[in-house]
Amino acid sequence: MFLSVFEMFKVGIGPSSSHTMGPMMAAARFLDLLRAAPFAAHGVKASLHGSLAFTGVGHATDRATVLGLAGFVPDTYDHTHAEAALEQIRDTCRVAPTGLPELVFDPRTDLVFEFGAALPGHANGMILKATDAQGDVILQETYYSVGGGFVLTEGELAAGKDTDEGAPVPYPFKTATEMLEMARTSGHSIAAMKRANEVSRGGSDTLDKGVARIWQVMNDCIDRGMAHDGILPGGLGVKRRARNIHDQLIAERGMNLAPPHTINDWMSVYAMAVNEENAAGGQVVTAPTNGAAGVVPAVIRYWLDHVPGSSRARIPEFLLTAAAIGGLVKYNASISGAEAGCQAEVGSAAAMAAAGLCAVMGGTPEQVENAAEIALEHHLGMTCDPVKGLVQVPCIERNGLGAIKAVSAASLSLRGDGTHLVPLDACIETMRQTGHDMSEKYKETSLGGLAVNVPNC
Ligand code: SF4
Repeated sequence: MFLSVFEMFKVGIGPSSSHTMGPMMAAARFLDLLRAAPFAAHGVKASLHGSLAFTGVGHATDRATVLGLAGFVPDTYDHTHAEAALEQIRDTCRVAPTGLPELVFDPRTDLVFEFGAALPGHANGMILKATDAQGDVILQETYYSVGGGFVLTEGELAAGKDTDEGAPVPYPFKTATEMLEMARTSGHSIAAMKRANEVSRGGSDTLDKGVARIWQVMNDCIDRGMAHDGILPGGLGVKRRARNIHDQLIAERGMNLAPPHTINDWMSVYAMAVNEENAAGGQVVTAPTNGAAGVVPAVIRYWLDHVPGSSRARIPEFLLTAAAIGGLVKYNASISGAEAGCQAEVGSAAAMAAAGLCAVMGGTPEQVENAAEIALEHHLGMTCDPVKGLVQVPCIERNGLGAIKAVSAASLSLRGDGTHLVPLDACIETMRQTGHDMSEKYKETSLGGLAVNVPNC
């Protein structure tokens, strides 16, 4: 099993990895099929199913699908260019992706929200079709957006989750137990094993530059979030708060006025800044998803700015450790809110951040595994019930609280010797079972919980 650090941490756009980035990537894959096809298509159509339909408008799934069919991809997304393209598509009812002739596509009629039952493979399904001049379907593919921006075709999903077909990696751990055993026998840290796996696939230069870019985008996102205020889009009237809280925290510095727990506000403000940017459709890094994108950057920034002895040179160690844990969770359970509730998103992010912080603060592999377990255990059962289908309430504050739990989990773990009762593998399996048993109302459909109990929504 190998899930790259660049699959766990992907540069993309808000507000949702599964509902915005995934559909855009699915459209990109469909365009590749068309480019390789021996025939020329006349038009394209798309339908959104399950959670992609129920919370698609709030998550900008329709917009992402249209832009994806026009050739936009998350990594190089440019907001101004995208807005101009959308206007042109609305006016001309055509998309013009690179390498293909113009395709007929009217977003008003050729993009359909199917509010019936979800497709059989996953809660986030979409079907893309190409048609000829008579309107007959000449190519069709079903895609599933399985969380964190990952997209699988129906065939890939049916083939099983272990679809990595690359060369074997030096440390092919699939469980936390295997990871700890390999760390013991090799004498390497989790980050060192993860690094060896990454280098074996992509080389050290690609890894170092890529990880540096990931942190740069994360950190820029925090700074942008703390510099902006106003009302977030979507109609809920949610005010951006990160800037004001940050201004308060700066003003209180050195005055001995603030109580000790103010440090929690610093962790929260970094996370909220990221998630406000995400909610505004800005550039973020999935960590492991957009909805949970604030936790890992907030914990790194907290460590850099507030913990004596921190060092930027160790950020790769943090991110590689976090990616190793995120890979275990994704492989053995889920990082998708539509599949397993928010325990799979913010819970996974907190486990990743706790592991990363524990590692850079000198934790042993056993302590790192313990930190991840504590953080995940205390998110078990957490539902996904975003108000109005927007990645705003409870998501923005929740990332702040996730960061606080992650730091506490790392700290508790570092006070022990790594031995503990609940193995991380058992906790991940519990999360998988809990997600499986959870009512669909609480899995990113906005049909239950806060989404139906908050007045006037
Ligand atoms: S409640 Fe959690 S899982 Fe659901 S959209 Fe918000 S952050 Fe994602």
